Amino acid sequence: MIYADNAATTQMSEKVIKAMLPYMEKIWGNPSSLYSFGQESKDSISFAREQIAGCIGATAAEIYFTSGGSEADNQAIISAAKIGAKKNKRHIISTAFEHHAVLHTLDKLKREGFEIELLDVHENGIITPEQVKNAIREDTALVTIMYANNEIGTIQPIAEIGEICRAAKVIFHTDAVQAAGHLPIDVKAQNIDLLSISAHKFHGPKGIGALYARKGIQLVNIIEGGAQERGKRGGTENVPAIMGMATALLDACANMAENNSKLLELRQKLIDGLNKIPHSTLNGDAEKRLPGNVNFCFEGIEGEALLLHLDDKGICASSGSACTSGSLDPSHVLLAIGRQHEIAHGSLRLTLCENNTAAEVEKIIVAVGEVVEYLRSISPLWKDKLIGKREFVLPE
Ligand SMILES: *Cc1c(COP(=O)(O)O)cnc(C)c1O
Repeated sequence: MIYADNAATTQMSEKVIKAMLPYMEKIWGNPSSLYSFGQESKDSISFAREQIAGCIGATAAEIYFTSGGSEADNQAIISAAKIGAKKNKRHIISTAFEHHAVLHTLDKLKREGFEIELLDVHENGIITPEQVKNAIREDTALVTIMYANNEIGTIQPIAEIGEICRAAKVIFHTDAVQAAGHLPIDVKAQNIDLLSISAHKFHGPKGIGALYARKGIQLVNIIEGGAQERGKRGGTENVPAIMGMATALLDACANMAENNSKLLELRQKLIDGLNKIPHSTLNGDAEKRLPGNVNFCFEGIEGEALLLHLDDKGICASSGSACTSGSLDPSHVLLAIGRQHEIAHGSLRLTLCENNTAAEVEKIIVAVGEVVEYLRSISPLWKDKLIGKREFVLPE
C-alpha cells in the first residue's frame, strides 16, 4: 500500500507509541487524585504541556488540552465571540476556505446574531494582509484564518495578519492543525492570540489536540465538568495521548528542516509528473504550500472514480469532492479559489510525509496517468470535448 493521505491523518511513529505505553501499563492513575500515584500522571502531563508550549513559543499556562483540532477551533472561536459580545463587538472575519470545524462554528454564531464576513480567497489560495486590514472595523471581535489549508496546502501570511490584528486590538485565531510540526510556529513573534493543533496530523495519536490561548484571553468552556485544564475543559485527561502528542510534536519540530527538504524534492517530482498528464491543473500556489501537499484537477475526471481506481492499485489518496448517492458535493475550498469547471469534476489530493519514497512517487505518477487516461477513454462526454462539441465535461 502507498499511503499518500497524510493531511487526513498520519501513522503514529514507533517512538510515539513507545512513549505512550508506560501511561497505559504502569502510570495509569488519575492526575486529579491526591496520592502520589496520581501525582505521577499529573507531573507527566505538566511536563508534556511545557514541551508542547516550547515548540510553539508559548508558556505552559497558555496550553489547554482538547479532544483534537475541532474542539480547539470551537473553543477558540466561541471564546473570542463571547469576549467581543461583552464589548458589543459582533463582527467576525474569516475566509471561505476554512475547515468545517471553523465554518460550522461560525454558522452557529451567525444564528446567534454575529455578523460573519468571509474573505474571498485569491486564485492562488492565499489571503493577503491588506484584505484583512481593509475588513477590520470598530466592532470586529475576531479574525480567524487558517495557517495552512488542508486541501490545497497553501500557507497564509500569518505573521503579517497577526501584526495587523494586534495593532487593531482584534483577537486573532489561527487553525494551525495542518501547520503544527510541519512549519515553524512562534505565537509571540507572530502575534497569535489563539491557535489550534491536533496530534494525529503530526504522527501523534487521534483524539487529542491543544488550544493555545494567550495569557489574558478568557476561555469559555465547551465541556463543563471538573477543574481540569484550569477549569476550562472538564474531563479526566487522556494521559497516554497527551504524552504521545508531546513526543510527536517534539520529534516533528526537531526534524522539521530535514523532513521538509526531503518533502520538497518529492513534491516537485510529483507535481512535475502529474503536470505531464494532458488537461491537468495544480490547485493553489506552486511554492507557498505545505511541503507534502499536491492537489490537482484533471479535466473531465470525477474525483471519486479516480480515488476508487487508485485504491484498486493500492494507493490511498483523497478528493476535494465527495459524490454521495449521485449528488455531487463540490469542495468549498476549490470553489473559494474560483475553480468553476474543474471542481465539478473533482480533484485529487496527494499528501506525502517523510516516510514516502521517490519510488512511491513514481508509482503514483504512473497510476494516476493510467487511471485518468482510462476514465477519459470510457467517457462519451470526453469524446465530445475532443471533437469540439463541448467546452468542458460535467459529470453525469
Ligand atoms: C484535521 C483538521 C482539523 C480537525 O482536527 P481533528 O483533530 O481531526 O478534530 C481542523 N482543521 C484542520 C485544518 C484540519 O486539517
